[in-house]
Amino acid sequence: VKRVYAFGKDANGNNVTEGNTEMKAVLGGKGANLAEMANIGLPVPPGFTITCQTCMEFANGGNSWPEGALDTIAEYRADLEERMGKKIGDAEDPLLVSVRSGAPMSMPGMMDTVLNLGLNDESINGLIKQTENPRFAWDSYRRFIQMFSNVVMGLDGDLFENAITAMKNERGVKSDTDLTAEDLQQLVAEFKGIFSQNVDPVAYPSLVVDGLVQFPQDPTLQLQLAIEAVFGSWNNPRAVLYRQKNKIADDLGTAVNVQSMVFGNKGNTSATGVAFTRNPANGEKEFYGDYLVNAQGEDVVAGIRNTSPIAQLKTVEGLEEAGQQLEDIFVVLENHFRDMCDIEFTIEQGKLWMLQTRVGKRTAAAALHIAIEMVKEGLITKEEAVMRVEPDQLDQLLHPQFDKNATYDVVARGLNASPGAAVGEAVFSAADAVAANEAGRNCVLVRWETNPDDLAGMIAAEGILTSHGGKTSHAAVIARGMGAPCVCGVEALKIDAEAKEARISGTDIVIREGDIISIDGTTGIVVLGPVSLVMPEITGDLDAILEWADEFRTLGVRANADNPEDAELSRSFGAAGIGLCRTEHMFLGDRKQIIQTFILNEDETVREEAVRELLEVQTNDFYGMFKAMDGLPVIVRLLDPPLHEFLESARALDVEIARLEAAGTDAALVAEKRELMAKIDSFAEQNPMLGMRGVRLGIVYPILPTMQVRAIATAAARLKKEGLDPKPEIMIPLVSVVTELAKLRALAEKVIAQVEAEEGVELEIPIGTMIELPRAAVTADEIASVADFFSFGTNDLTQTTFGFSRDDVEGEFVPQYLSERLLPFNPFATVDAGVARLVQMGVELGHEGNPEIVCGVCGEHGGDPDSIATFNGIGLDYVSCSPYRVPVARLAAAQAAL
Ligand code: ADP
Ligand code: MG
Ligand code: MG
Repeated sequence: VKRVYAFGKDANGNNVTEGNTEMKAVLGGKGANLAEMANIGLPVPPGFTITCQTCMEFANGGNSWPEGALDTIAEYRADLEERMGKKIGDAEDPLLVSVRSGAPMSMPGMMDTVLNLGLNDESINGLIKQTENPRFAWDSYRRFIQMFSNVVMGLDGDLFENAITAMKNERGVKSDTDLTAEDLQQLVAEFKGIFSQNVDPVAYPSLVVDGLVQFPQDPTLQLQLAIEAVFGSWNNPRAVLYRQKNKIADDLGTAVNVQSMVFGNKGNTSATGVAFTRNPANGEKEFYGDYLVNAQGEDVVAGIRNTSPIAQLKTVEGLEEAGQQLEDIFVVLENHFRDMCDIEFTIEQGKLWMLQTRVGKRTAAAALHIAIEMVKEGLITKEEAVMRVEPDQLDQLLHPQFDKNATYDVVARGLNASPGAAVGEAVFSAADAVAANEAGRNCVLVRWETNPDDLAGMIAAEGILTSHGGKTSHAAVIARGMGAPCVCGVEALKIDAEAKEARISGTDIVIREGDIISIDGTTGIVVLGPVSLVMPEITGDLDAILEWADEFRTLGVRANADNPEDAELSRSFGAAGIGLCRTEHMFLGDRKQIIQTFILNEDETVREEAVRELLEVQTNDFYGMFKAMDGLPVIVRLLDPPLHEFLESARALDVEIARLEAAGTDAALVAEKRELMAKIDSFAEQNPMLGMRGVRLGIVYPILPTMQVRAIATAAARLKKEGLDPKPEIMIPLVSVVTELAKLRALAEKVIAQVEAEEGVELEIPIGTMIELPRAAVTADEIASVADFFSFGTNDLTQTTFGFSRDDVEGEFVPQYLSERLLPFNPFATVDAGVARLVQMGVELGHEGNPEIVCGVCGEHGGDPDSIATFNGIGLDYVSCSPYRVPVARLAAAQAAL
């Protein structure tokens, strides 16, 4: 096996790159694209890449090196030294390298990188000699010790920051840049002392010299430890969490890139920066990014100093040429990758070096805009444009915005780093964000700047607010990736995370923990207090892409909605009908009393009166639904949940009785309550979700489906008489045997015929069933003989196929299954392969029993892009999902078809 691949030029200027952009699975994204950039002639500092597979072998072998790997690395190192004409650790003219992680999938900031490797007490002299710049050399050495200690040894970065602060105080200076070469040399000595005191000699016997831990002087040992640390960072907790959240497999591993250092911190004709070839927030065609003069890589992303916009680079004295070359390279990269790219670069004394490129992350709005513009520019096809927008990302555009009519006082402004608006309690730590979320409270995470340890809190929060860092800071990048609103770099915000409060400078406004704040990531506005939010509409770029998607997809998209407002909304989002109208939601509120009367009374006349009342309100409900969806199908599901869901909680009643008794209230009332409780108890079941519900209710209480069918038919008849075109369909839930459906079908047909006669109109109302029990799926041919359509209820089908209670899935064992990867994903979120097989069997058998049968899916899975891809392949006619997922499903269905 080939474990190491060279990239860049040799000593004669010939390209000796062995990899290319196709090899991301082997070289990681960073390594594959460093190779690609070298291949197309861009200036890339030479180096070599150790494969992702080596990382996995190292990890699977219990952190031990596969045979021969270290030898190969040594060969490639020697080759690199020859290409560069310099040796790592040399006392005359040392080569310095960076050791950079880079996984197949971009995992921004999740893993580690070490810069300036190869410095030691001898090579520092060589660096001073070559650069004639002792200050720069000592600064590089102290950065290396600091980074190595933190990244490779896991020491707390504060140990070193505190030493720098102490030194600055001692010297009476403010900034790091005011420290002299001698100061930095002294810091190096102090840093080595910190290293010796804090590294555990038992864990690192190779570092013990004369009984003491010493900062490693041997470059070979430095390099090996750094590579091992980068390998190890694949499994650090934040990387594992990021992979879980982004559905990235755990067995990909990270590559390690060992690359010659170039220096952006060699004075005022040196610089470093990050950039995008187009604006990643809105997709505008403009160069976008930040740079810092006289700085090293991490400084930009860390948000330690305030950066300048990339467009100014060309105007900086001494950087004009490099700035122009960079802009030319933007164009080269876009044409080559046929997509928007993001770039890391460094300018060393006027010479530009490319350190990284990849297809850039972008907001949903930018993804749409870029895709459409690139079709116009002739760079990509319509099909490619549709493929380029991530369906899940569309969610961002359907995110709330500040209501334009709302009035509010802006307390501060920052950078509009990630679009959408959020309202929630201010929290000042990731842990508090997680706690608030678990308690069911919306929160906004307020931080000076986020770092990868904040990830769990960023996921839990509605939005993120930082006082520092630019649009490429950690908070901004991660928030855009997650689709969470983010306002960053709010300089007026003076945060005291300990005290859990933030002051707005120049005012006496204080934001305390728990105060409601609102942020708008589209405009960068911060408001103290709640702002009312509105949902955006489908227009412009979104509309254009969805229309293209509709040209390509074969799967229909309907919505789950049970009131006219949601029905209208989903229609405006492009739904071709209602795939599931749940009727139980129509029994809540003041109607609960009526259904309770029905359930709890044995007196037939009282019952019939209750049903008459229900008939009237239900007829109006359906009238509104069918009118809103005029001309489009509306599948109405007859009553499904266990009846006790409509009753008072027995436990609450028990408490009330105890209270009444203690208060000595009159015995008659207590007796009445006790009787009620006995009645409620009689409906209790051990497994209500497997009990008296669905079609079983209709068999036991035929008066209920009779009433509901009558309401449906009557509403349709009325609308027809008004000249409209209602298209109701009746769906019987939880059928397991064909006889159940046959019985209720006969009942429904009889009622419909009665209504037709009474109203004098002809009605055509298809009758079908849900397939949500395994028995129904495997006998679908029989069931289809009496069904006009099937709707696969994949929530219940998942529950009954696995025997997992869907209401308890957040509990103990499913999370453990997920973290141990016994299951690849939550089967209630993305349809499981076994459940999908049952669906496929149901579709196929269904067509045997009734060639005309129409098949859809109405579970949560109907709005999940991965599930949609599965459904597209197994013969379904449509998916049905919540209104806000309709655009997502339209796009996902097109991608599945392409
Ligand atoms: P990440 O994946 O976290 O972005 P990188 O490996 O890209 O980590 O390194 C972070 C930064 O370190 C880069 O953006 C670059 O500025 C700097 N860097 C890495 N390698 C080199 C190098 N060989 N020369 C100069 N700077 C480097
Ligand atoms: Mg990088
Ligand atoms: Mg169900």
